[in-house]
Amino acid sequence: MKSEPAPSWANEKQGRFFTRIDVTTMLNGAVLAVPLHVITGRAPGPTFGIITNTHGDEFLATIAIREFVNALDTARLRGRVVLVSVANPMATAGFGRQTPEQHGRTDLHEVYPGNARGNTTQMIAATIAANVLHHVDALIDFHSGGSGGRLQARVDYNARTDDELKRKNLALARAFGATFVHENEFAGSAAHYLNSRGVPAVNPEVGGAWLGPHATNYYTVMMVNGLKGMMQHLGMLEGSPEPRSPLHFDLKARREIRPKNSGYLVSRFERPEDLGQLIKDGTKLGEVIDLYTYQVIEELVAPHDGYLFFSRYSGMVGGGTQAFALAEAAATRRLD
Ligand SMILES: [Zn+2]
Repeated sequence: MKSEPAPSWANEKQGRFFTRIDVTTMLNGAVLAVPLHVITGRAPGPTFGIITNTHGDEFLATIAIREFVNALDTARLRGRVVLVSVANPMATAGFGRQTPEQHGRTDLHEVYPGNARGNTTQMIAATIAANVLHHVDALIDFHSGGSGGRLQARVDYNARTDDELKRKNLALARAFGATFVHENEFAGSAAHYLNSRGVPAVNPEVGGAWLGPHATNYYTVMMVNGLKGMMQHLGMLEGSPEPRSPLHFDLKARREIRPKNSGYLVSRFERPEDLGQLIKDGTKLGEVIDLYTYQVIEELVAPHDGYLFFSRYSGMVGGGTQAFALAEAAATRRLD
């Protein structure tokens, strides 16, 4: 579906191009603009859209995407990568998940296709839709664990599509090579909107924030390999993605373990390698220590056998926040 006018970058020749697309003005006097990288290959091929920093505290993908696109040889690239490096600059400036603005609907992950005369978040979405989403053959919206302190290693794809698009979404998700693929729902996201137009689009959710060197390197390698695998799958790069057998689960198999109380969580699962482990029913995942009395006020325990698909590392938690999540073993399958 490409009935919209051609984007400003449609006639870019082989090479790299960077621009900023104005959205609106901000109260600090600066112009709010969306940054756009266009990397065009020598040979024709698909247009692959990448957006990241949709949530302003999920920044790890930045260094992996930078490493990956800097290494792309445009002489060997078929087609084009169109990349929004910071989808929500206002959320990013505030180190927060959502846009700091007065009115509601401030999560860019929930407002697509946006509204050019809506609030600031909706204007950002409308700008990205008009300049990127309406002109791509496939898209990823790249997330990671944010200031909540969680580690992630999965690619989410949309459950609410027809069978053919679902198959394409799953194939794109698998090409990334993460530990898990998760059939999920995310109404209002860029990927969901593109799916409604028949275009495959999925959300990698990998790594975390403020990690040490081991975990940063572990996830950066996973992300760079993932981008390469997806572009091989799309026929934009030579070769094919490494065959992998990810764990697949849907929303019915998803179980989140949340502390009832706030405090300091001592996590027993805070290494990247812990994700994908089969955790037995009754295993202690962590404990919450009261910041004031130093008492252990809660133990978090696996409620059934399941594969650990996100985990929180040790640190402060608010009551009710997501700490650990298991894909229920009985409802999870390893794809061939
Ligand atoms: Zn996110």
